Amino acid sequence: MDYIKNLSHLFSKFPTIGPRTASRFVFYLIKQPKESIDELLRAIEQIKNKIQLCKFCFNPYSIDDFSGAKPETALCNICQNPSRNKTVLCVVEKEADLISIENTKKYNGLYFILCNGAGAFKNEEINNLRINELQERIFNPQNFGFNKTIFSEIIIATNPTLEGRAASVLILRALLDKLKASLIKVTHLAKGIPFGGELEYADEETLESAFEGRK
Ligand SMILES: [Zn+2]
Repeated sequence: MDYIKNLSHLFSKFPTIGPRTASRFVFYLIKQPKESIDELLRAIEQIKNKIQLCKFCFNPYSIDDFSGAKPETALCNICQNPSRNKTVLCVVEKEADLISIENTKKYNGLYFILCNGAGAFKNEEINNLRINELQERIFNPQNFGFNKTIFSEIIIATNPTLEGRAASVLILRALLDKLKASLIKVTHLAKGIPFGGELEYADEETLESAFEGRK
Protein backbone atom coordinates (compact mmCIF):
# COMPACT_ATOMS: atom_id res chain seq x y z
CA MET A 1 0.00 0.00 0.00
CA ASP A 2 1.32 3.43 -0.89
CA TYR A 3 0.32 5.29 2.28
CA ILE A 4 1.67 8.63 1.10
CA LYS A 5 -0.20 8.46 -2.16
CA ASN A 6 -3.36 7.34 -0.41
CA LEU A 7 -3.47 10.28 2.01
CA SER A 8 -2.44 12.74 -0.71
CA HIS A 9 -5.36 11.53 -2.76
CA LEU A 10 -7.75 12.14 0.16
CA PHE A 11 -6.44 15.68 0.70
CA SER A 12 -6.66 16.46 -3.01
CA LYS A 13 -10.44 16.06 -2.77
CA PHE A 14 -10.61 19.14 -0.48
CA PRO A 15 -11.90 22.37 -2.05
CA THR A 16 -9.10 24.41 -3.67
CA ILE A 17 -6.43 21.80 -2.81
CA GLY A 18 -4.46 20.49 -5.79
CA PRO A 19 -2.27 17.36 -5.82
CA ARG A 20 0.92 19.32 -4.98
CA THR A 21 -0.51 21.00 -1.89
CA ALA A 22 -2.05 17.66 -0.93
CA SER A 23 1.33 15.94 -0.90
CA ARG A 24 2.87 18.86 1.01
CA PHE A 25 0.25 18.28 3.72
CA VAL A 26 1.28 14.64 3.88
CA PHE A 27 5.01 15.42 4.20
CA TYR A 28 4.18 17.98 6.89
CA LEU A 29 2.19 15.39 8.84
CA ILE A 30 4.96 12.79 8.56
CA LYS A 31 7.22 15.14 10.52
CA GLN A 32 4.69 15.91 13.27
CA PRO A 33 4.87 14.32 16.75
CA LYS A 34 2.27 11.70 17.58
CA GLU A 35 0.38 14.09 19.93
CA SER A 36 -0.26 16.54 17.11
CA ILE A 37 -1.58 13.77 14.91
CA ASP A 38 -3.88 12.56 17.71
CA GLU A 39 -5.14 16.09 18.23
CA LEU A 40 -5.87 16.41 14.52
CA LEU A 41 -7.70 13.08 14.42
CA ARG A 42 -9.82 14.09 17.43
CA ALA A 43 -10.68 17.45 15.89
CA ILE A 44 -11.78 15.76 12.67
CA GLU A 45 -13.90 13.28 14.60
CA GLN A 46 -15.56 16.11 16.54
CA ILE A 47 -16.56 17.80 13.30
CA LYS A 48 -18.55 14.70 12.54
CA ASN A 49 -19.89 13.99 16.04
CA LYS A 50 -20.48 17.46 17.43
CA ILE A 51 -21.56 19.54 14.47
CA GLN A 52 -25.02 19.49 12.99
CA LEU A 53 -26.59 21.36 10.13
CA CYS A 54 -29.39 23.70 11.17
CA LYS A 55 -32.74 22.30 10.17
CA PHE A 56 -33.89 25.66 8.86
CA CYS A 57 -30.88 27.43 7.33
CA PHE A 58 -28.28 24.60 6.99
CA ASN A 59 -25.72 26.62 8.94
CA PRO A 60 -23.42 24.17 10.80
CA TYR A 61 -23.54 24.61 14.58
CA SER A 62 -22.04 22.86 17.57
CA ILE A 63 -24.50 20.76 19.57
CA ASP A 64 -22.44 21.67 22.69
CA ASP A 65 -23.86 25.20 22.46
CA PHE A 66 -27.24 23.80 23.44
CA SER A 67 -26.26 21.31 26.13
CA GLY A 68 -29.27 21.12 28.41
CA ALA A 69 -31.21 23.70 26.43
CA LYS A 70 -33.46 22.28 23.74
CA PRO A 71 -31.44 20.59 21.04
CA GLU A 72 -34.57 18.85 19.78
CA THR A 73 -35.47 21.98 17.85
CA ALA A 74 -32.25 21.42 15.85
CA LEU A 75 -31.88 25.09 14.98
CA CYS A 76 -28.59 27.01 14.98
CA ASN A 77 -27.75 29.94 17.28
CA ILE A 78 -28.86 32.46 14.67
CA CYS A 79 -32.25 30.87 14.04
CA GLN A 80 -32.82 30.35 17.78
CA ASN A 81 -31.86 33.90 18.71
CA PRO A 82 -35.03 35.75 19.79
CA SER A 83 -33.54 39.14 18.92
CA ARG A 84 -33.02 38.30 15.23
CA ASN A 85 -35.45 39.86 12.77
CA LYS A 86 -37.45 36.91 11.48
CA THR A 87 -39.14 38.79 8.66
CA VAL A 88 -36.00 38.97 6.49
CA LEU A 89 -34.27 36.01 4.87
CA CYS A 90 -30.86 36.33 3.23
CA VAL A 91 -29.99 33.62 0.71
CA VAL A 92 -26.23 32.96 0.46
CA GLU A 93 -24.29 30.38 -1.52
CA LYS A 94 -22.14 28.99 1.24
CA GLU A 95 -21.22 29.05 4.91
CA ALA A 96 -18.23 31.36 4.44
CA ASP A 97 -20.50 34.03 2.89
CA LEU A 98 -22.77 33.87 5.92
CA ILE A 99 -19.76 34.41 8.20
CA SER A 100 -18.62 37.44 6.16
CA ILE A 101 -22.07 39.02 6.40
CA GLU A 102 -22.27 38.27 10.15
CA ASN A 103 -18.87 39.95 10.60
CA THR A 104 -20.26 43.26 9.30
CA LYS A 105 -22.79 43.20 12.21
CA LYS A 106 -25.18 45.14 9.97
CA TYR A 107 -27.59 42.34 9.20
CA ASN A 108 -29.93 40.97 11.83
CA GLY A 109 -32.25 38.68 9.88
CA LEU A 110 -32.16 34.98 9.09
CA TYR A 111 -30.13 33.14 6.47
CA PHE A 112 -30.48 30.29 4.06
CA ILE A 113 -27.44 28.42 2.66
CA LEU A 114 -28.19 27.49 -0.91
CA CYS A 115 -25.39 25.11 -1.94
CA ASN A 116 -25.10 21.59 -0.77
CA GLY A 117 -21.68 21.20 -2.43
CA ALA A 118 -18.15 21.61 -1.11
CA GLY A 119 -17.94 25.38 -1.48
CA ALA A 120 -19.25 27.96 -3.89
CA PHE A 121 -21.05 25.89 -6.42
CA LYS A 122 -19.80 25.16 -9.91
CA ASN A 123 -22.00 24.61 -12.93
CA GLU A 124 -21.94 20.85 -12.62
CA GLU A 125 -23.36 21.12 -9.10
CA ILE A 126 -26.48 22.97 -10.15
CA ASN A 127 -28.64 20.06 -9.00
CA ASN A 128 -27.18 20.48 -5.51
CA LEU A 129 -28.87 23.84 -5.03
CA ARG A 130 -31.52 23.68 -2.31
CA ILE A 131 -34.22 25.46 -4.30
CA ASN A 132 -37.08 23.24 -3.08
CA GLU A 133 -35.86 23.58 0.49
CA LEU A 134 -35.77 27.35 0.10
CA GLN A 135 -39.30 27.36 -1.18
CA GLU A 136 -40.52 25.37 1.82
CA ARG A 137 -38.80 27.74 4.27
CA ILE A 138 -40.21 30.86 2.66
CA PHE A 139 -43.76 29.67 2.32
CA ASN A 140 -44.07 27.22 5.22
CA PRO A 141 -41.89 28.60 8.03
CA GLN A 142 -44.28 27.03 10.53
CA ASN A 143 -42.74 23.64 9.62
CA PHE A 144 -39.61 24.83 11.41
CA GLY A 145 -41.16 26.27 14.54
CA PHE A 146 -41.49 29.83 13.22
CA ASN A 147 -45.24 29.86 13.71
CA LYS A 148 -45.96 33.50 13.29
CA THR A 149 -43.17 34.28 10.87
CA ILE A 150 -44.13 35.76 7.60
CA PHE A 151 -41.16 36.94 5.59
CA SER A 152 -41.50 40.41 4.14
CA GLU A 153 -38.17 40.45 2.32
CA ILE A 154 -35.92 37.87 0.67
CA ILE A 155 -32.40 39.12 -0.03
CA ILE A 156 -30.66 37.21 -2.81
CA ALA A 157 -27.00 37.49 -1.80
CA THR A 158 -25.40 35.04 -4.20
CA ASN A 159 -21.91 35.97 -5.41
CA PRO A 160 -21.46 38.22 -8.45
CA THR A 161 -19.95 35.33 -10.43
CA LEU A 162 -21.42 33.51 -13.43
CA GLU A 163 -22.55 30.69 -11.15
CA GLY A 164 -23.95 33.05 -8.53
CA ARG A 165 -26.01 34.86 -11.15
CA ALA A 166 -27.23 31.58 -12.58
CA ALA A 167 -28.30 30.56 -9.07
CA SER A 168 -30.18 33.80 -8.59
CA VAL A 169 -31.98 33.33 -11.92
CA LEU A 170 -32.91 29.78 -10.94
CA ILE A 171 -34.35 30.91 -7.60
CA LEU A 172 -36.40 33.62 -9.22
CA ARG A 173 -37.62 31.32 -11.97
CA ALA A 174 -38.76 28.77 -9.40
CA LEU A 175 -40.32 31.17 -6.92
CA LEU A 176 -41.32 34.38 -8.66
CA ASP A 177 -44.99 33.64 -9.24
CA LYS A 178 -45.53 32.56 -5.67
CA LEU A 179 -43.47 35.46 -4.33
CA LYS A 180 -45.48 37.98 -6.34
CA ALA A 181 -48.73 36.52 -5.04
CA SER A 182 -47.42 36.68 -1.49
CA LEU A 183 -46.23 40.32 -1.65
CA ILE A 184 -42.82 39.30 -0.34
CA LYS A 185 -40.21 41.75 -1.60
CA VAL A 186 -37.14 40.31 -3.36
CA THR A 187 -33.97 42.38 -3.20
CA HIS A 188 -30.42 41.98 -4.51
CA LEU A 189 -27.21 43.33 -3.05
CA ALA A 190 -26.11 46.64 -4.54
CA LYS A 191 -23.27 46.55 -7.01
CA GLY A 192 -19.90 47.21 -5.43
CA ILE A 193 -18.47 43.76 -5.18
CA PRO A 194 -16.73 43.43 -8.56
CA PHE A 195 -17.94 40.84 -11.04
CA GLY A 196 -16.23 37.53 -10.37
CA GLY A 197 -15.65 38.51 -6.73
CA GLU A 198 -17.06 36.65 -3.78
CA LEU A 199 -18.71 37.87 -0.59
CA GLU A 200 -16.28 35.71 1.31
CA TYR A 201 -13.35 37.90 0.24
CA ALA A 202 -15.06 41.30 0.13
CA ASP A 203 -13.92 43.80 2.74
CA GLU A 204 -16.44 44.70 5.42
CA GLU A 205 -17.08 48.21 4.17
CA THR A 206 -17.90 47.05 0.64
CA LEU A 207 -20.16 44.34 1.95
CA GLU A 208 -21.87 46.75 4.31
CA SER A 209 -22.69 49.22 1.55
CA ALA A 210 -23.78 46.41 -0.78
CA PHE A 211 -26.27 45.45 1.93
CA GLU A 212 -27.44 48.94 2.72
CA GLY A 213 -27.93 49.77 -0.98
CA ARG A 214 -29.84 46.62 -1.80
CA LYS A 215 -32.85 46.93 -4.05
ZN1 LIG B 1 -30.20 28.22 11.35
